[in-house]
Amino acid sequence: MEILKFTEDHHAYRDRLVSFLAEEVVPLIDKCEAAHLTPRSMWQAMGENGFLCPWLSKEYGGPGLDLLYSVIVWEEIARINFTGLAAGLHSDIVVPYIHSFASEPLKQAYLPGCASGQIITAVAMTEPGAGSDVASMETTAVTQGDEIILNGSKTFISNGLNCDLVVLAARNPDIEDRHKAISLYLVEAGVPGFSKGTPFEKMGWASQDTTELFFSDCKIPVSHRLGNEGDGFLMLMQKLQQERLVCAAGGVFGARAILDRTLDFCRTRTQAEKPLSKHQSVQFALVEMETEVEILKTFAQTLIRDHMEGRQIIKETSMAKYKMTELSKRVASKCLDIMGSEAARESCDLPRMFRDARVTTIFAGTNEIMKSIIAKTLGL
Ligand SMILES: Cc1cc2nc3c(=O)[nH]c(=O)nc-3n(C[C@H](O)[C@H](O)[C@H](O)COP(=O)(O)OP(=O)(O)OC[C@H]3O[C@@H](n4cnc5c(N)ncnc54)[C@H](O)[C@@H]3O)c2cc1C
Repeated sequence: MEILKFTEDHHAYRDRLVSFLAEEVVPLIDKCEAAHLTPRSMWQAMGENGFLCPWLSKEYGGPGLDLLYSVIVWEEIARINFTGLAAGLHSDIVVPYIHSFASEPLKQAYLPGCASGQIITAVAMTEPGAGSDVASMETTAVTQGDEIILNGSKTFISNGLNCDLVVLAARNPDIEDRHKAISLYLVEAGVPGFSKGTPFEKMGWASQDTTELFFSDCKIPVSHRLGNEGDGFLMLMQKLQQERLVCAAGGVFGARAILDRTLDFCRTRTQAEKPLSKHQSVQFALVEMETEVEILKTFAQTLIRDHMEGRQIIKETSMAKYKMTELSKRVASKCLDIMGSEAARESCDLPRMFRDARVTTIFAGTNEIMKSIIAKTLGL
């Protein structure tokens, strides 16, 4: 059952994207994984072909399509399991902050580059001492005349090395209320006082240039604050629904991709004179996963539709982020068992998929935080 109404135009877009990824991205994945970096040229090619910020209106340099085009990008990138090209993060998590909250001149200055792939974005909230409890951040933003002075550091920032533009969360040290102290700022790479670390050696998302960002007496114009001073925490909360939806959909699309690889393998791999897929224990395991993936895919589609219709679905997106990332983790683990020694080879996609799926329960709010949100909505 397809809940999302994809038109002929959507299908044509998907076909173009699938060919693009097969020709220009898949051959480079191993290289990016080893380098912990994805070439900027790949981002630019994505932009030139209309695969970044497809929802962005024409006045800001986008094609002015709907969110379903983004969904297609999330799904097809999950299918090739390439985390280096975090198009969902750029197009559908970070750029919406700029689109919703930046002043008109900043939108005119930055959004066309975001769509063309000339500008790669990141969002920087997490600090060494402030993860789940974002409000305990220590990075400061002090206004002096018409400038803001930034000091502090952020860690685990996706697109951290490649980014040209960062949506940075920082607090006013003179405001005691931890939530009202936070504002969001747009900081360009290259501004004096802003430096970047080197990509982390980490489990999973190896081609992602996740790193630290440092701010030392970094001066930016006051006009680079998004919205009103002190509204940063509210803005983060306002955008979390879509962020969690991107992660949730990534989880279920990722699980689909892992299962498809395993189904193909089981149809051709022979044991005891018959394909693995004809052994009942393997069949049942595959069927159990197929059932869960398809049920959750339907839930993901329902939430995407509801989100596109402007409904508040905080509880449901929290449930989806938790359940769908757990699903991809579990499916990856079971598929490794089913594929046996073949899956132990690094040349097989499965180990990478397993590691990439494993860390998705941590970001965009850990799954424990998702459960706390759900508990609150239940009045617990
Ligand atoms: C691959 C990757 C990419 C990332 N990209 C970005 C990015 O682009 N930008 C960015 O800002 N951050 C990013 N992060 C950081 C991510 O958002 C944080 O890791 C996450 O918020 C959790 O924070 P923490 O790691 O400090 O864990 P902590 O908050 O220290 O949590 C540790 C453990 O305690 C549990 N815990 C914490 N508080 C509670 C509570 N109140 N109730 C119950 N349990 C709790 C957690 O669930 C977890 O199990 C990324 C992380 C990863 C792994």
